[in-house]
Amino acid sequence: MWAASVFTLYPEMFPGPAGLSLSGDARARGLWSLETKNIRDHGLGRHRAVDDSPAGGGPGMVIRADVLAASLDAGIPDGDGRPRLLMSPRGKPLTQARVRELVAGPGLIIVCGRFEGVDERVIEARGLEEVSIGDYILSGGEIAALVVLDACVRLIPGVMGKEASGKEESFESNLLEYPQFTRPRDWEGRSIPDVLLSGDHAKIAKWRRSEAERLTRERRPDLLD
Ligand code: SAH
Repeated sequence: MWAASVFTLYPEMFPGPAGLSLSGDARARGLWSLETKNIRDHGLGRHRAVDDSPAGGGPGMVIRADVLAASLDAGIPDGDGRPRLLMSPRGKPLTQARVRELVAGPGLIIVCGRFEGVDERVIEARGLEEVSIGDYILSGGEIAALVVLDACVRLIPGVMGKEASGKEESFESNLLEYPQFTRPRDWEGRSIPDVLLSGDHAKIAKWRRSEAERLTRERRPDLLD
Protein backbone atom coordinates (compact mmCIF):
# COMPACT_ATOMS: atom_id res chain seq x y z
CA MET A 1 0.00 0.00 0.00
CA TRP A 2 1.26 3.52 -0.86
CA ALA A 3 2.04 4.98 2.57
CA ALA A 4 2.32 8.66 3.49
CA SER A 5 3.75 9.94 6.78
CA VAL A 6 3.43 13.64 7.53
CA PHE A 7 5.48 15.47 10.17
CA THR A 8 3.68 18.62 11.26
CA LEU A 9 2.91 20.95 14.14
CA TYR A 10 -0.76 20.80 13.12
CA PRO A 11 -1.82 17.16 12.76
CA GLU A 12 -5.44 18.37 13.09
CA MET A 13 -5.15 19.67 9.52
CA PHE A 14 -5.04 16.03 8.30
CA PRO A 15 -6.56 14.16 6.62
CA GLY A 16 -8.70 17.26 5.89
CA PRO A 17 -9.49 17.28 2.17
CA ALA A 18 -7.50 14.05 1.75
CA GLY A 19 -10.21 12.34 3.81
CA LEU A 20 -12.97 13.25 1.35
CA SER A 21 -14.05 12.43 -2.18
CA LEU A 22 -11.64 10.46 -4.39
CA SER A 23 -8.74 10.35 -1.88
CA GLY A 24 -10.99 9.60 1.07
CA ASP A 25 -12.73 6.74 -0.73
CA ALA A 26 -9.37 5.36 -1.84
CA ARG A 27 -8.05 5.49 1.71
CA ALA A 28 -11.15 3.70 2.98
CA ARG A 29 -10.56 1.06 0.29
CA GLY A 30 -6.99 0.54 1.54
CA LEU A 31 -5.27 1.89 -1.59
CA TRP A 32 -3.15 4.29 0.46
CA SER A 33 -2.51 5.15 4.09
CA LEU A 34 -1.82 8.37 5.96
CA GLU A 35 -0.24 8.84 9.37
CA THR A 36 0.66 12.12 11.04
CA LYS A 37 3.44 12.74 13.55
CA ASN A 38 3.27 15.78 15.77
CA ILE A 39 6.71 17.40 15.81
CA ARG A 40 5.80 18.99 19.14
CA ASP A 41 5.87 15.56 20.81
CA HIS A 42 9.65 16.02 20.70
CA GLY A 43 9.57 19.66 21.81
CA LEU A 44 11.78 20.81 24.66
CA GLY A 45 10.89 21.62 28.23
CA ARG A 46 7.59 22.22 29.93
CA HIS A 47 6.30 24.17 26.94
CA ARG A 48 7.47 21.63 24.39
CA ALA A 49 9.31 24.35 22.46
CA VAL A 50 10.05 23.51 18.84
CA ASP A 51 11.43 26.81 17.56
CA ASP A 52 13.92 29.52 18.44
CA SER A 53 15.04 32.87 17.07
CA PRO A 54 17.18 32.92 13.91
CA ALA A 55 20.94 32.95 14.32
CA GLY A 56 22.22 36.25 12.98
CA GLY A 57 19.02 38.05 13.91
CA GLY A 58 15.93 38.97 11.94
CA PRO A 59 12.23 38.43 12.31
CA GLY A 60 10.34 35.26 13.13
CA MET A 61 11.32 31.89 14.48
CA VAL A 62 13.05 28.80 13.08
CA ILE A 63 12.21 25.16 13.78
CA ARG A 64 15.09 23.64 15.71
CA ALA A 65 17.28 20.98 14.08
CA ASP A 66 17.47 18.83 17.23
CA VAL A 67 13.70 18.79 17.74
CA LEU A 68 12.82 17.99 14.13
CA ALA A 69 15.57 15.34 13.92
CA ALA A 70 14.31 13.66 17.11
CA SER A 71 10.82 13.59 15.65
CA LEU A 72 12.03 12.13 12.34
CA ASP A 73 14.31 9.57 13.99
CA ALA A 74 11.53 8.34 16.26
CA GLY A 75 8.91 8.32 13.51
CA ILE A 76 10.74 6.76 10.56
CA PRO A 77 11.66 3.09 10.83
CA ASP A 78 15.25 2.03 9.98
CA GLY A 79 15.63 1.20 6.31
CA ASP A 80 12.56 3.17 5.26
CA GLY A 81 13.19 3.86 1.57
CA ARG A 82 10.51 6.47 1.02
CA PRO A 83 11.51 9.86 -0.39
CA ARG A 84 11.65 12.53 2.32
CA LEU A 85 10.20 15.82 1.17
CA LEU A 86 10.35 19.13 2.98
CA MET A 87 7.69 21.53 1.77
CA SER A 88 9.55 24.76 1.02
CA PRO A 89 9.18 27.76 -1.29
CA ARG A 90 12.91 27.37 -2.01
CA GLY A 91 12.41 23.85 -3.35
CA LYS A 92 12.20 22.54 -6.88
CA PRO A 93 8.68 23.26 -8.15
CA LEU A 94 6.42 20.19 -8.16
CA THR A 95 5.54 18.93 -11.64
CA GLN A 96 3.22 16.24 -12.96
CA ALA A 97 6.31 14.27 -14.03
CA ARG A 98 7.66 14.32 -10.46
CA VAL A 99 4.23 13.33 -9.14
CA ARG A 100 4.29 10.29 -11.45
CA GLU A 101 7.71 9.30 -10.08
CA LEU A 102 6.53 9.68 -6.49
CA VAL A 103 3.44 7.55 -7.12
CA ALA A 104 5.57 4.78 -8.60
CA GLY A 105 7.50 4.50 -5.31
CA PRO A 106 6.50 3.06 -1.91
CA GLY A 107 5.00 6.31 -0.59
CA LEU A 108 6.18 9.57 0.93
CA ILE A 109 7.51 11.18 4.04
CA ILE A 110 6.54 14.86 4.11
CA VAL A 111 7.83 17.46 6.56
CA CYS A 112 5.75 20.62 6.94
CA GLY A 113 7.63 23.78 7.84
CA ARG A 114 6.20 26.69 9.84
CA PHE A 115 7.40 30.15 10.92
CA GLU A 116 10.51 31.19 8.92
CA GLY A 117 11.32 27.59 8.08
CA VAL A 118 13.63 24.94 9.52
CA ASP A 119 17.29 24.95 10.59
CA GLU A 120 19.40 24.24 7.49
CA ARG A 121 21.46 21.56 9.26
CA VAL A 122 18.57 19.13 9.68
CA ILE A 123 17.71 19.44 5.97
CA GLU A 124 21.23 18.25 5.14
CA ALA A 125 21.68 15.75 7.94
CA ARG A 126 18.39 13.92 7.32
CA GLY A 127 18.50 14.19 3.52
CA LEU A 128 15.33 16.22 3.10
CA GLU A 129 14.44 17.18 -0.47
CA GLU A 130 12.90 20.65 -0.66
CA VAL A 131 9.80 20.79 -2.85
CA SER A 132 7.75 23.89 -3.67
CA ILE A 133 4.18 24.05 -4.89
CA GLY A 134 4.66 27.46 -6.51
CA ASP A 135 6.20 30.90 -6.32
CA TYR A 136 4.24 32.33 -3.40
CA ILE A 137 4.51 32.01 0.38
CA LEU A 138 2.10 29.99 2.50
CA SER A 139 1.99 30.25 6.27
CA GLY A 140 2.90 26.60 6.66
CA GLY A 141 3.71 23.42 4.78
CA GLU A 142 0.46 21.61 5.60
CA ILE A 143 -1.61 22.86 2.67
CA ALA A 144 1.37 22.25 0.39
CA ALA A 145 1.61 18.68 1.73
CA LEU A 146 -2.09 18.16 1.01
CA VAL A 147 -1.48 19.39 -2.55
CA VAL A 148 1.31 16.84 -3.03
CA LEU A 149 -0.80 14.05 -1.52
CA ASP A 150 -3.84 14.93 -3.64
CA ALA A 151 -1.79 15.01 -6.84
CA CYS A 152 -0.20 11.65 -6.02
CA VAL A 153 -3.17 9.75 -4.64
CA ARG A 154 -5.42 10.30 -7.66
CA LEU A 155 -2.79 8.52 -9.79
CA ILE A 156 -2.53 5.42 -7.60
CA PRO A 157 -3.84 2.53 -9.74
CA GLY A 158 -7.49 1.89 -8.95
CA VAL A 159 -8.19 5.31 -7.43
CA MET A 160 -9.68 6.97 -10.51
CA GLY A 161 -12.66 5.26 -12.05
CA LYS A 162 -11.20 5.06 -15.50
CA GLU A 163 -7.44 4.47 -15.52
CA ALA A 164 -7.20 6.41 -18.78
CA SER A 165 -8.59 9.63 -17.37
CA GLY A 166 -5.17 10.57 -16.02
CA LYS A 167 -3.47 10.27 -19.37
CA GLU A 168 -4.97 13.05 -21.44
CA GLU A 169 -4.86 15.81 -18.88
CA SER A 170 -2.99 19.08 -18.80
CA PHE A 171 0.82 18.65 -18.51
CA GLU A 172 0.82 15.06 -19.77
CA SER A 173 2.72 15.40 -23.07
CA ASN A 174 3.53 19.05 -22.20
CA LEU A 175 0.20 20.39 -23.44
CA LEU A 176 -2.68 22.03 -21.63
CA GLU A 177 -5.96 20.18 -21.99
CA TYR A 178 -8.39 20.95 -24.80
CA PRO A 179 -11.74 22.61 -23.91
CA GLN A 180 -14.46 20.37 -22.51
CA PHE A 181 -18.23 20.55 -23.09
CA THR A 182 -21.28 18.66 -21.91
CA ARG A 183 -25.07 18.90 -22.18
CA PRO A 184 -27.09 20.98 -22.93
CA ARG A 185 -26.10 21.27 -26.54
CA ASP A 186 -27.20 24.91 -26.70
CA TRP A 187 -26.81 27.15 -23.69
CA GLU A 188 -27.31 30.94 -23.55
CA GLY A 189 -26.86 31.10 -27.29
CA ARG A 190 -23.59 29.16 -27.23
CA SER A 191 -23.37 25.75 -28.80
CA ILE A 192 -20.97 22.84 -28.54
CA PRO A 193 -18.50 22.78 -31.48
CA ASP A 194 -20.04 20.68 -34.29
CA VAL A 195 -17.01 18.45 -34.62
CA LEU A 196 -17.55 17.07 -31.10
CA LEU A 197 -21.06 15.97 -32.07
CA SER A 198 -19.96 14.49 -35.41
CA GLY A 199 -19.12 11.04 -34.08
CA ASP A 200 -15.97 11.09 -36.23
CA HIS A 201 -13.34 10.05 -33.70
CA ALA A 202 -10.34 10.84 -35.88
CA LYS A 203 -11.64 14.33 -36.55
CA ILE A 204 -12.40 14.84 -32.87
CA ALA A 205 -8.88 13.77 -31.88
CA LYS A 206 -7.40 16.14 -34.44
CA TRP A 207 -9.54 19.05 -33.20
CA ARG A 208 -8.63 18.37 -29.59
CA ARG A 209 -4.94 18.18 -30.41
CA SER A 210 -4.99 21.49 -32.28
CA GLU A 211 -7.00 23.21 -29.52
CA ALA A 212 -4.53 21.89 -26.92
CA GLU A 213 -1.66 23.30 -28.96
CA ARG A 214 -3.41 26.64 -29.43
CA LEU A 215 -4.14 27.04 -25.71
CA THR A 216 -0.62 26.04 -24.75
CA ARG A 217 0.88 28.52 -27.22
CA GLU A 218 -1.37 31.29 -25.88
CA ARG A 219 -1.13 30.61 -22.16
CA ARG A 220 1.98 28.56 -21.43
CA PRO A 221 4.47 28.87 -24.28
CA ASP A 222 7.15 27.79 -21.77
CA LEU A 223 5.73 24.23 -21.88
CA LEU A 224 6.51 23.96 -25.59
CA ASP A 225 10.23 24.75 -25.18
N1 SAH B 1 10.95 32.23 5.22
C1 SAH B 1 10.67 31.24 4.23
C2 SAH B 1 9.16 31.02 4.10
C3 SAH B 1 8.56 30.33 5.29
S1 SAH B 1 6.86 29.98 5.05
C4 SAH B 1 11.22 31.72 2.87
O1 SAH B 1 11.26 32.92 2.64
O2 SAH B 1 11.61 30.86 2.05
C5 SAH B 1 6.58 28.74 6.26
C6 SAH B 1 6.54 27.31 5.76
O3 SAH B 1 5.46 27.18 4.84
C7 SAH B 1 7.75 26.84 5.01
O4 SAH B 1 8.73 26.33 5.88
C8 SAH B 1 7.18 25.73 4.14
O5 SAH B 1 7.09 24.51 4.82
C9 SAH B 1 5.77 26.22 3.85
N2 SAH B 1 5.63 26.86 2.54
C10 SAH B 1 5.41 28.19 2.30
N3 SAH B 1 5.33 28.45 1.00
C11 SAH B 1 5.47 27.26 0.35
C12 SAH B 1 5.48 26.88 -1.03
N4 SAH B 1 5.31 27.76 -1.99
N5 SAH B 1 5.66 25.56 -1.32
C13 SAH B 1 5.85 24.66 -0.33
N6 SAH B 1 5.85 24.96 0.99
C14 SAH B 1 5.66 26.24 1.34
